[in-house]
Amino acid sequence: MPLKRNKLLASTIVRLRNQYLKQRGPDLKPRLWSNTTETEQSIIITMVLPTRGCSWALSESGGCSVCGYVNDSSRDRPIPSEQILEQINYFLNRVVPTKPIELKLFNSGSFFDENDVPRTLRLQILDLVKKTPEVILLSVESRPEYLLNQQKIIDETNRLLKPIKLEIGIGLESSNSAILKDCWNKGFSIEDYRKSVKMAHSQDIRIKTYILIKPPFLTEAEAIYDSIMTTFEAVKIGTNVVSFNPCNIQNGTLVHELTKKDRYQPPWLWSILSIVQSIRNQFPDLEIICEPTAAGKRRGTHNCGKCDHKVLDLIDRVIINEKIPDDLSTICSCFSKWKVLVETPIEVFRSRNLSKLRLLNPLNE
Ligand code: SF4
Ligand SMILES: [Zn+2]
Repeated sequence: MPLKRNKLLASTIVRLRNQYLKQRGPDLKPRLWSNTTETEQSIIITMVLPTRGCSWALSESGGCSVCGYVNDSSRDRPIPSEQILEQINYFLNRVVPTKPIELKLFNSGSFFDENDVPRTLRLQILDLVKKTPEVILLSVESRPEYLLNQQKIIDETNRLLKPIKLEIGIGLESSNSAILKDCWNKGFSIEDYRKSVKMAHSQDIRIKTYILIKPPFLTEAEAIYDSIMTTFEAVKIGTNVVSFNPCNIQNGTLVHELTKKDRYQPPWLWSILSIVQSIRNQFPDLEIICEPTAAGKRRGTHNCGKCDHKVLDLIDRVIINEKIPDDLSTICSCFSKWKVLVETPIEVFRSRNLSKLRLLNPLNE
């Protein structure tokens, strides 16, 4: 899989990341993070494993322009596998299994990347999961290259897990190859995603597709359009679930730097609502997830501060197919401000004094 990289973007990301990690110092102690929620049908346990870190982020590509997960990974001081297993065991045993369990094990990288999750650790984790009879679904995450190049690892995982269903989350973010390369620095194309989904489905593996809302260098309106188009493409390719993730500002990332210079702002909650509404209207049965990190805060998707909770609630209602008011301007006066923003011709925004990086906007003619 040849790398699709924008050298200026990648070198800027590497520089910012290294600067941040250096200043942060060596005393970080990554720990397993866990959260349990309940729905009518199941108990959902989410764990973030403190593994070495995403190889894409640790490579000379610097990783994705928005992602700061590597800040909390163990990197060159790996945590012994026994400690990670002990912690998974501890959190699994704390749950009273009154319902089937859906287990989400995320390592802030790729579960099938043996540099991040070595084979022995992966097999031991699978063994632990198998010993918990209530688990019906294991959800992990991976970049497409591991689905395409490490099929043996996927086969082995899927075979050992049976009858537990395997779900793989892929961070597609955008279906536009220019945006993937020049905004997100993902290093793969929509074709790689398409082949990965095909490969997973041939093994009866579910695919969850993450769509990141509002790439750097795009306007609010361009970002809305991109997310809608990306969802259409992902559904056409056959994703089972779509998870919308409004971009939030993480330390040491390119979007953090752009935000400091007032050249980036996370998406409005109105934008998220408008995307979710369009997609729900178009695909009434599609499984949609939207649980924005830092919603309502300056570093996450937000509105004026007064209506944020109301709009988050509207997003939840749209997802479950409930009716919401037709006239959204009655919810808050900031709706009209947002409307002006998204309806103003793009050229007005482009005429600002833009940084060199801003000129990388792939939609510039
Ligand atoms: S978004 Fe995923 S692939 Fe990109 S750097 Fe972060 S963990 Fe790695
Ligand atoms: Zn408001």
